[in-house]
Amino acid sequence: MYDKTVPFGASIKWIKKETRDTSTYALRILDRQIRKDYCFKPGQFNMLSIPGIGEAAISISSSPADHDLLHTVRVAGDVTTALSTFLPEMSWGCAAPSAMDGRSKKQKTGT
Ligand SMILES: Cc1cc2nc3c(=O)[nH]c(=O)nc-3n(C[C@H](O)[C@H](O)[C@H](O)COP(=O)(O)OP(=O)(O)OC[C@H]3O[C@@H](n4cnc5c(N)ncnc54)[C@H](O)[C@@H]3O)c2cc1C
Repeated sequence: MYDKTVPFGASIKWIKKETRDTSTYALRILDRQIRKDYCFKPGQFNMLSIPGIGEAAISISSSPADHDLLHTVRVAGDVTTALSTFLPEMSWGCAAPSAMDGRSKKQKTGT
């Protein structure tokens, strides 16, 4: 199992333009072992990082059963604008899948 605290590299296999400002990116994890071990649950997101620019939380838009790991991204600010200039074969960094816990503290404790 890979160290989920360390970001890993991924390259873009293909890009599909969905609308004027939104594209879907299919990723290929560069490290063979991480590619083998990588798994996620529906609703999880990756932190995508572009060196020198920053990072952004982006949901995984494919199903865990799909062959491709997909992210659909709308241009908003620094990271997503930089991403919109990327071409297939270019690489970025990814952190292990995470989930947001939408419950408030109150709900968690039941108070
Ligand atoms: C759990 C989670 C999952 C997400 N999943 C997705 C996803 O699947 N796809 C997706 O596209 N996004 C997703 N987002 C949103 C994405 O993480 C944010 O939009 C993120 O801030 C983009 O990073 P950025 O550096 O491109 O934008 P930032 O630079 O962080 O800009 C963020 C905000 O600042 C404002 N802003 C920035 N520049 C300007 C400007 N020049 N003029 C006016 N306003 C400006 C924008 O309103 C923008 O909303 C998700 C967020 C979370 C928390």
